[in-house]
Amino acid sequence: MSDVSPPAAWRLRADIDLGALRANVRALRQRASGGAGLMAVVKADGYGHGLLPCARAARRGGADWLGAATPEEALALRADGDTGPLLCWLWTPGGPWREAIEAGIDVSASGLWALEEINAAARAAGRVARVHLKADTGLGRNGAQPADWSALVAAARAAEAEGTARVTGVWSHFACADEPGHPSIAAQQAAFAEALAVAARAGLDPEVRHFANSPATLTLPGAHYDLVRCGVSVYGLSPSPEIGQPADFGLRPVMTLRARLAAVKRVPGGHGVSYGHRYTTPGETTLALVPAGYADGIPRHASGSGPVLVAGKLRTVAGRVAMDQFVVDLGGDAAAAGDEAVLFGPGDRGEPTAEDWARAAGTISYEIVTRIGPRVPRVYIGGEGGEGGEGGEGGEGGEDEGGEGE
Ligand SMILES: *Cc1c(COP(=O)(O)O)cnc(C)c1O
Repeated sequence: MSDVSPPAAWRLRADIDLGALRANVRALRQRASGGAGLMAVVKADGYGHGLLPCARAARRGGADWLGAATPEEALALRADGDTGPLLCWLWTPGGPWREAIEAGIDVSASGLWALEEINAAARAAGRVARVHLKADTGLGRNGAQPADWSALVAAARAAEAEGTARVTGVWSHFACADEPGHPSIAAQQAAFAEALAVAARAGLDPEVRHFANSPATLTLPGAHYDLVRCGVSVYGLSPSPEIGQPADFGLRPVMTLRARLAAVKRVPGGHGVSYGHRYTTPGETTLALVPAGYADGIPRHASGSGPVLVAGKLRTVAGRVAMDQFVVDLGGDAAAAGDEAVLFGPGDRGEPTAEDWARAAGTISYEIVTRIGPRVPRVYIGGEGGEGGEGGEGGEGGEDEGGEGE
């Protein structure tokens, strides 16, 4: 994925505002209660925003930890020179444990098989593995079940005694933190307290106990413990409209997805539009062709419903989203090939938001940004180092911001 400016004749681009990302990290860190640290989750190519630039910006913004799902993501961060605390949690048997341990990456174990592979890799490396034990407190995804927790804790204590591992974290994950008041929230909190008590009684003394994702960071201060793990909120999106808008939490969406119209033409009334003719022009009108399709991550489920800002007004995708393009009906308005269409952005310049696309496609904003494909260049604005997005480093960000929003 490109982190340089696209050619002047760009088709479709995702502008990534690293100044906003840094400010989001600072806002979230302030929200973390009782001095809890902040882990910026950069899995899935930084939720589609670009792994390395976002990871660097998150560190600059004050992220104490980085979080990755796969070992490949975590190793890529180390190869980029990141040396800070870094957790990677999604392991399968035979994974690159030794490389991770040698790179000083904290690994996660949800079962005995993982702990055995960690011990073997640590012996081979002659290093002490840093391990987070994960409890399933009710999500029903990864993590050890309460019935298996004591055995996992005991095996980890034995590994500490042998000198192959040190338990640096005990953690869990919420199922419904984005639905405030859901009864599973309190049940999971009680189960986590119990898992921590079992671990403490067995003699484990982790550096960090962590439980909260973005929605719990924003709504459940009692679940912050030593560290909060924020993903979607780092990228300036609210985990759910039910919880609030990004601005309610001092967050600003980081990605703006823009295209340049590939064609504008007059057509008569009664003209079918795009595959299946799911849209027919109600009268003579002007159609504009937006060169973005489902191969770029535009959901086909948003056919007939996705919003886009073209020629100063919000339009709706006319007919089906195709692999590379979709059409909007401009009605009586004028536009020209090359004019800009904004699919989504922060939302304060009349453009739709990723949340609007999520609603149109029957999904969540997480999926909208994460699915933006590798064919779409990411263009980094707002500088990379230093402080803030407000002009502190105009030299770096300025050149790309010039064409924005005009
Ligand atoms: C993705 C993920 C997060 C971040 O979740 P958000 O809702 O995006 O903040 C935190 N923890 C784990 C285990 C995850 O998989």
